[in-house]
Amino acid sequence: MTRQLFVTTALPYANAPFHLGHIMEYIQADIWVRHQRMSGSEVHFVGADDAHGAPIMIAAEKAGITPQQFVAQIAAGRKQYLDGFHIEFDNWHSTDGIENHELSQDIYRKLKAAGFITSKTIEQFYDPVKKMFLPDRYIKGECPKCAAKDQYGDSCEVCSAVYSPTDLIKPYSVLTGATPVMKSSEHFFFKLSDQKCVDFLRTWALQDDRLQSEVANKCKEWLEGDGGLGDWDISRDAPYFGIEIPDQPGKYFYVWLDAPVGYLASLKNYFAKTGRDFDAFMADPMTEQIHFIGKDITYFHTLFWPAMLKFSGYKIPDNVYAHGFVTVSGEKMSKSRGTGISPLRYLDIGMNPEWLRYYFAAKLNAKVEDLDMNPEDFVARVNADLIGKYVNIASRAAGFITKRFDGRLGAADPEAHDLMQTTFAAVAEVKEFYEAREYSKALRRIMEVADHANQYVAQKAPWLIAKDPAREEELHRVCTTALGLFKILSVMLAPVLPQLTKAVASWLNCPIASWDDALVALEENHQIGEYQHLMQRVDIKIFDQLFDSPVPGSVSEAVAAPVTTTAPAPALTTPAATATNAAAIEELAPEITIDDFSRIDLRIARIVNCEQVEGSTKLLRLTLDVGEGRTRNVFSGIKSAYQPEQLIGKFTVMVANLAPRKMKFGISEGMVLAASAEDEKANPGLYILEAWPGAQPGMRVR
Ligand SMILES: [Zn+2]
Repeated sequence: MTRQLFVTTALPYANAPFHLGHIMEYIQADIWVRHQRMSGSEVHFVGADDAHGAPIMIAAEKAGITPQQFVAQIAAGRKQYLDGFHIEFDNWHSTDGIENHELSQDIYRKLKAAGFITSKTIEQFYDPVKKMFLPDRYIKGECPKCAAKDQYGDSCEVCSAVYSPTDLIKPYSVLTGATPVMKSSEHFFFKLSDQKCVDFLRTWALQDDRLQSEVANKCKEWLEGDGGLGDWDISRDAPYFGIEIPDQPGKYFYVWLDAPVGYLASLKNYFAKTGRDFDAFMADPMTEQIHFIGKDITYFHTLFWPAMLKFSGYKIPDNVYAHGFVTVSGEKMSKSRGTGISPLRYLDIGMNPEWLRYYFAAKLNAKVEDLDMNPEDFVARVNADLIGKYVNIASRAAGFITKRFDGRLGAADPEAHDLMQTTFAAVAEVKEFYEAREYSKALRRIMEVADHANQYVAQKAPWLIAKDPAREEELHRVCTTALGLFKILSVMLAPVLPQLTKAVASWLNCPIASWDDALVALEENHQIGEYQHLMQRVDIKIFDQLFDSPVPGSVSEAVAAPVTTTAPAPALTTPAATATNAAAIEELAPEITIDDFSRIDLRIARIVNCEQVEGSTKLLRLTLDVGEGRTRNVFSGIKSAYQPEQLIGKFTVMVANLAPRKMKFGISEGMVLAASAEDEKANPGLYILEAWPGAQPGMRVR
């Protein structure tokens, strides 16, 4: 039976590049989708950027651009991650797309007509300077319990007390520093407390193995806990970057209302592009709707989302699969402790994306467990299992087929009959493990098969048979059988290693695209190509380049937390390289007077755009706003240290009165400042200057 699947991953908030947790979720879903496609299912796999809400509105304002431009810049950076890790979404869209506006408003109208929307007036903190209501995270003050200063409106980071913003002593707005005032406003609520909702959710969440047992138990607690479910505040007042509530001027949907609708919007957008009927597909009872999410957002996906869909007459989700967080060597990833991993840097320093896919798969299961990434473990799994067991089989048998038999396969070894039978049986088990998202079990079973295949090769010892010209036919049989086993292993690994197994398919000159391909034997006389080495081993030393350097004195995250656009730290620094050595700094230049200095006109510049320069290994092209009413084009030799998306929107310092210089790629109208060590070869870090918040384009640096 062909299944008809609509699969999504959680929508990432469009204020920062992907982190390793996103990549893990996408790899988890991508493996499952590839397995489904190999099984003959029709799968539509979509993602989108979660574009709305106050943090993006404020970050865009800070960067001097519109929220739409801000989101577009982040979105432009997505492809390199997805392509880089072989994550094959059919479509990537945005919750600010027209489809999402229409669908969200339609859902709201239907909920309202069905009596599930109510309104009441509530009092909230309001910033009288900024003229906007303040979400809890935008209010700070002294903790009512321990009197610690500069604590957020919802909890204290010093004594861990939890409270409401109105409890804060001397509250102030994070945005302007103004003392907030209480102001009332009408808010709209989704009546989650309605008995019909509660009854529906109890059935939905607890039946059909729809949810993992730990998630289902959590839902039960929420549904049956003290006071049950409360109504859900779904509105926000202007100014807000979001979708307007129909017939309620100045009111917008809270970002969490329209974010999951983005799943449907992305599918609709994709279907429009490919000429398919969205409404018919969603109305088809055969369609299964499956969401992969992180454990932190189960509340939204197992209560609000299914209830919203149910009572607006839309299709309800069939499954929601939650996963845990990624930790590094047992700890939460932290930039300041030097345990953060930038996925882009992983690719930039030449680490193989399929190592990571294999490693994550080897540790993922169907439970909501955190996944620990540990360098020694990573190296062991990739080198010992993936290369030592799997790739090894091909490299031991391939040479003989090419050199001795002109690349043509021989007959199967009758003595390997039992081995082939147990291998076929393993294929069926492995397929079931993928189906159940038990990837670690799948890979363990695959490695058992690889062990047996290696035992077969070791026992037959083709390198010894090859020495005896009379045993030519036996050599042919053994190597053919080894490659037959290798092909079956490749089919079983195809969901995890799409790139590598594609190379295998092309080398073995046979399809590796469906589960049935595992059962098709390579025939006698089948011609294969010349063996090329399939995968490098990983050297543990490369991890020195992967980890962020610890941030000395760790800049308080509290300063930037609510509105931060956390770009990864510049690449290519190691802890050793950042250690300062007073004796080793570059010699000072000859003394100058203040007049000498004032001849250099340094200005604050906003990096409006930044892109790669085609054909250059060193340069990035910067478009700078220096407040002149036009932008400047500047080429800068900082490509080794930054990805363009990291720099867009940042404020830096430039030499604004440098004579324009004609370069191979165009005219450079100035120079941005960056720090580097004297010996850039030995110590290759490069650090662009960034201005403190508040500096404006065109301000002179003196
Ligand atoms: Zn406190």
